[in-house]
Amino acid sequence: MNGPAVHIDNLSVCYRQTPAISGVCLDVSEGEYLGIIGPNGGGKSTLLKAILGLVPISSGTVQVYGDSPGNHKTTVGYVPQFTSLDKRFPITLGEVVLTGRLKKGLSPFFRYTQKDYDLSHQLIKQVGLESLENRQISELSGGEFQRMLIARALAVNPKLLLLDEPTASVDAASRDQIYTLLAELNKSMTIILVTHDLFAISSHVHRLACLNGHLVYHGEPQLTENIVNSLYGCPVDLIAHGVPHRVLREHGGNLL
Ligand code: ADP
Ligand code: MG
Repeated sequence: MNGPAVHIDNLSVCYRQTPAISGVCLDVSEGEYLGIIGPNGGGKSTLLKAILGLVPISSGTVQVYGDSPGNHKTTVGYVPQFTSLDKRFPITLGEVVLTGRLKKGLSPFFRYTQKDYDLSHQLIKQVGLESLENRQISELSGGEFQRMLIARALAVNPKLLLLDEPTASVDAASRDQIYTLLAELNKSMTIILVTHDLFAISSHVHRLACLNGHLVYHGEPQLTENIVNSLYGCPVDLIAHGVPHRVLREHGGNLL
């Protein structure tokens, strides 16, 4: 039997002496679509970086398909929250997606192969940006830019896709396009989505993890008021794009 796609046991990550996350235990099954929510500074981005091997682990273990982070043979696609890509840089959408094919330890004589060109072209089509392949990135909308980053993340042929707030600062139509795309991608890969968007949580993901330095909740994607209050540390009103009834369950179990 296959093990989980991601196995996290008692994980703590500190920046200098300060813990960002502590004691996190989380399993993500193959084919799962997991949503992660939590307040700013709750450690969501840090958790994704720990899975990628981008931050040192203070204690505990992380395994991705049975290997330690950064070492795993199975490639992981990543859409970061903040990209180092400068929007003013004179580069086309097609060229950015191609950079997803760059290998580690790049040689000065590196050239993309025909396969690299074919695959990135196919991915651009898959994310619905075919007509914009030669567009400068400075001329893309927020939603187009995010879908370009998803295409770039897919260029490694990932089995696991990590996305860090891909719908922040995009309009409603683009947000829907991104969720439709992720649902399609989830048919062939495991997805972990960090989001502030409670609409995504209630209508798309299979399971939910709530992170506030530690894991407050992990389970079905229906939030109760108790979970939300312990997650944000205070009572909060949830307004999820006009569909709060699908997000919060009353103590009695009826949907609000
Ligand atoms: P989230 O993504 O949930 O907003 P982060 O994982 O970005 O949370 O941050 C968790 C905590 O770790 C925060 O207190 C943040 O200030 C701190 N932190 C994040 N990255 C660094 C870093 N590179 N150096 C020092 N502290 C950091
Ligand atoms: Mg973050």
